[in-house]
Amino acid sequence: MVLEEIQSVFEKRGAGAYFGEPVSQLEHALQAANFAEKEQASEHLIVAALLHDIGHLLEEIPEDIAEQGVDAKHEEIGQAWLEKRFGPEVYEPVHLHVSAKRYLCATDKFYLGKLSLASALSLKLQGGPMSRDEVAAFESNRFYREAVRLRLWDDLAKVKGARVPPLDHYREMINAVLRPAGSE
Ligand code: FE
Repeated sequence: MVLEEIQSVFEKRGAGAYFGEPVSQLEHALQAANFAEKEQASEHLIVAALLHDIGHLLEEIPEDIAEQGVDAKHEEIGQAWLEKRFGPEVYEPVHLHVSAKRYLCATDKFYLGKLSLASALSLKLQGGPMSRDEVAAFESNRFYREAVRLRLWDDLAKVKGARVPPLDHYREMINAVLRPAGSE
């Protein structure tokens, strides 16, 4: 069952620190999902927010990965896993959430200054701000707006000690947006 898989992934790895930020991976995921829900995003996008960093949790990635000069490409790992279980409304925004940072850096002059230190550091490894052509290509994606929204929640979801609903709160939502069994 996908629900149990998700629970066990967070149980195994969720307590780890979120890359140089004052929250754990699980706290980060729950805060991102909570921002999505408070902004009345669709259930698909709330689940995407909850699972946007699942790629980090599926493999053992050292916490200081960016400092080592390696881009873990967690959005690719996350997408591959999500694609088997959810439709594009969930996996596409996840896949695009790193590009969305590069997009926002190119299109919003205040955005770069608001990034945390860890996030600004990984930006370089991710390719820096998008070029004009890359911006146009990004905007041609059906889910780019969702990816940008997800990105902004991702950036905010680093509040130490914030009180937000637990993983259980999202059970029904996850089940509601699952890909029907056997469909591709
Ligand atoms: Fe994140």
